[in-house]
Amino acid sequence: MMARQLYLQKLKAGGYSNTQVRRVLFETLLNSGHQPKTMAQLIAATEGVADRASVYRAVDILQSIGIINRLNIGWKYKLELSDDFHGHHHHMNCGQCGKTISAEDDKDFEAQLHRLASTYGFTITDHQLQIQGICNSCKNI
Ligand SMILES: [Zn+2]
Ligand SMILES: [Zn+2]
Ligand SMILES: [Zn+2]
Repeated sequence: MMARQLYLQKLKAGGYSNTQVRRVLFETLLNSGHQPKTMAQLIAATEGVADRASVYRAVDILQSIGIINRLNIGWKYKLELSDDFHGHHHHMNCGQCGKTISAEDDKDFEAQLHRLASTYGFTITDHQLQIQGICNSCKNI
């Protein structure tokens, strides 16, 4: 399904309409080149469309109906479209420049994770993996 169709379908299923601020947030994340955004960046992107409080509220709603994913990075966070849009993947976050790199989905790794969980009788329904470190360009300064 096309991303925009999926977005509209999820809004509808959640009982929400496609307001301008929600649409701008979605489009901003869709066109981000898969670079998760900070709240400050999203507030900047919606300037003139909605005030801060409305942007926070809209992000909460989009998160509650599975359109937006919140990535907890240390005590900060970034936002991106959910796995339903991007496919499942993990993130490597550079502690120096703040860049987030998306790691390709790795079938072996995922299988291993599920195997690990199952040894505890646990079934994984969802997970995030945030890896903290230093990116290649920061290492070479
Ligand atoms: Zn870096
Ligand atoms: Zn991502
Ligand atoms: Zn995973």
